Amino acid sequence: MDVSVPTLFFVIILISFTLACSIAVVAWRHSRELLIWAWALGVNALAYVLFALRGQVSDLWSVVGANVAIASTLALFRAGIACSQGGRLNWRRVYWPIPFVAISFYALLDNLPARVSVGCLIFAWQSSDSFLALIRRRGQTQGMGQYILMVGFGLIALVFLTRIAAALSGHMHLISILTTNGVQIATFFIAIISLALFGTGLTLMAHERAMHELAESRALLRQQNAMLQQYSTELGIANLRLGELSLTDSLTGLGNRRRFDEGLQAESVHARRTGKPLALLIADVDYFKHYNDCYGHLGGDDCLLQVAQVLQGQSKRAADLVARYGGEEFSVIASGTHREGALQLGEALCRAVAELALPHVQSPHGRVTISIGAAVLMPGDELEPRTLIRLADVALYRAKSEGRNRVCLA
Ligand code: GH3
Ligand code: MG
Ligand code: MG
Repeated sequence: MDVSVPTLFFVIILISFTLACSIAVVAWRHSRELLIWAWALGVNALAYVLFALRGQVSDLWSVVGANVAIASTLALFRAGIACSQGGRLNWRRVYWPIPFVAISFYALLDNLPARVSVGCLIFAWQSSDSFLALIRRRGQTQGMGQYILMVGFGLIALVFLTRIAAALSGHMHLISILTTNGVQIATFFIAIISLALFGTGLTLMAHERAMHELAESRALLRQQNAMLQQYSTELGIANLRLGELSLTDSLTGLGNRRRFDEGLQAESVHARRTGKPLALLIADVDYFKHYNDCYGHLGGDDCLLQVAQVLQGQSKRAADLVARYGGEEFSVIASGTHREGALQLGEALCRAVAELALPHVQSPHGRVTISIGAAVLMPGDELEPRTLIRLADVALYRAKSEGRNRVCLA
């Protein structure tokens, strides 16, 4: 197989340029590290263009320019690795070889062995630096792309070390840039292989990193979803509790006035629809103002609580709704209860409160008692809830005026 060094250069330029363009297109606005690596490959293509023009352009371009381009390529590779590893880039450590190569190659333009040795030493250091950076962070980096890159950088470092050995041992003819011989061909074959390794390694590494980040953000999303679900459950429970509280009387724990209004409205509609009677009882604690005056407001509160518990305990049917109507007044909505039932229930409530035997020295009964006014919505009545309340109220005043501790039916 006849292979000449200029042909290999041409192949390297083509591969570098193609990889640079395709990676740049894929990475555009997506991956910063891939974009840096695309630049590295583009500059590598430029370096080999300048090498290939040896003798046709001034040495300033084909010697100094080409080697500065190689130093830039390796520096950009290292910068891309730092970017993909997410650490902070030490700019001075990465980019110092570029001005150094420019100055030393310009100064050593007439001293081939010296400039080859200096150049290859720096390039070998740059390749090893990338190689070591990959090794150091291999535990934190996902996937296989990093290992492909390690092989690439390892090979390149080896090539430069071989060239230093050739220069130092006086075999300059073996490494003179456009000379075709075994060492040159092996060198540039390795350069081609390394390019292929870089192309796959870099894209694989960026892809693997993106996949890892995707998996991480998915896990985060799942976690946030779970938290959101928990918050929404807690919010639902809090809302339910708030709803309950808005319908509950804080002192007695019975339904409050709002609960009573809603219950009476709903029950009167239900009673009319089903043709069943509906009884409303309004109970009022007798001489309660005197009770407060005598036992204090806290004593009054305690009395109200006990009366409430008795009323609740006596209203045994599930459909009965006991609520605090206001101040020292309570209401019982008893659906499906006719006039006799309402009277019986009222009497039972009065008796039960009296049997509590809470002392009330300012009452003629000597104990806490209640008076009850009852009204019943019979099937066929077209009474509004408000009218039912008014009727029960009138009955309550009758119970008061007839001596209290009793129930009167409207
Ligand atoms: P009557 O036998 O005619 O019903 O006389 P009364 O004293 O019970 O009637 P009145 O309406 O004059 O007095 C009701 C009292 O109830 C007045 C008010 O101070 C008291 N009261 C209302 N709500 C509360 C409460 O939440 N706690 C306490 N301790 N007292 C209350
Ligand atoms: Mg009252
Ligand atoms: Mg009263």
